[in-house]
Amino acid sequence: MRTHYIEDFADDLGPEKIIHIFEPKSGLKATVVIDNISLGPAVGGCRMATDVSTREVFRLARAMTLKNALSELPHGGAKSAILANSRCENKELLVREFAQSIKHLTDYIPGPDMGTDETCMAWIHDEIGRAVGLPKVLGGIPLDELGMTGYGLAVAAEVAGDYLDLPLEDARVVIQGFGNVGKAVARFLDQKGAKLIATCDSQGAIVNKDGLDVLELIKARQQGNSVQESGLGSPISQGELLALESDIFIPAARPDVFTELNQYLLNTKLVLEGANIPITHEAAKKMFQRGIMIVPDVIANSGGVICAATEYQGMTESLAFERVKNTIGGNTREIFERTAKGAVTPHDAALQMAQERISQAMAFRAHI
Ligand code: NAD
Repeated sequence: MRTHYIEDFADDLGPEKIIHIFEPKSGLKATVVIDNISLGPAVGGCRMATDVSTREVFRLARAMTLKNALSELPHGGAKSAILANSRCENKELLVREFAQSIKHLTDYIPGPDMGTDETCMAWIHDEIGRAVGLPKVLGGIPLDELGMTGYGLAVAAEVAGDYLDLPLEDARVVIQGFGNVGKAVARFLDQKGAKLIATCDSQGAIVNKDGLDVLELIKARQQGNSVQESGLGSPISQGELLALESDIFIPAARPDVFTELNQYLLNTKLVLEGANIPITHEAAKKMFQRGIMIVPDVIANSGGVICAATEYQGMTESLAFERVKNTIGGNTREIFERTAKGAVTPHDAALQMAQERISQAMAFRAHI
């Protein structure tokens, strides 16, 4: 195991540790970034993918530091990546070896992320007794099945709707990515009368300006059909989806979807960041100047981690829903209050809010 401290990334908050793992026998390659643990042991997802750079793991870990602080959780932020295809044949072996490699990193509690799920967390828990996002039988609260992150996004939509005078009834919604998060937020917004007019998966996008049938689309996906194969809307390109006129746009697929180069395409009133870091800092600033309100990822998509922390504390599903509603509702309100005069962007306001809490906790740490 090699440990690097990469100066490029360092600032007042972290990262505390950057660890590269290589086990020649199994071929396991992994990266762990523990960013800041002032508030407690760090919780953050373990991603399985071939193309995750150390910088990306760091950026995701930092997002967790801010998200956990904003969610008022007794946890710092971390992230890890197992560099392998998530459909590889030796997945269990790699995940178990990864677990053993982080056994002594007791400041890191892994959770599910892209390419991993509750079964992977059960393997890690079996190896080292430390993981969140576990199967129900091990005391887990099934956050993807319940759609916790989507629920939190719908809470943010409702609060933002009050500030923007944008009722959810008949609001035109576009969701990029119809996976765990996209499907769940579509379902919760559908229940509130909103109209999903377009969505996509990695294979293609569809539109229906009168509104897509959300429940039928979820059913089609469960049957293994792509969004376009569902036949429920007219095919459009991924680029056209980004430029469609809407009231609410929810990126729920990949990082860096909007940059300074393409931010001008977005034609909406409200963005709820379902994915992590889907809009670069500069792009978000320009969008805000154009009058688009953004509820940043560290607030809008925190439903999953609030649920995971509730599980870690041995508490119930109903308490998790209550916490998600109160925390995301309260934070969304505060973002609107802090950005009301236009002097500070939503992302800067969220950063300020998180830093205020982390600084208070850091003041209690030993200076050695
Ligand atoms: P997922 O894999 O279930 O769904 C992702 C969806 O995006 C899929 O429909 C996929 O086909 C689509 N997609 C992928 N690449 C695309 C591309 N280039 N163009 C268009 N569509 C594309 O993942 P998920 O759990 O829904 O997570 C989505 C995002 O939300 C990720 O960034 C993740 O880190 C973030 N997030 C997830 C949770 C959670 O609770 N699952 C919580 C917080 C943040």
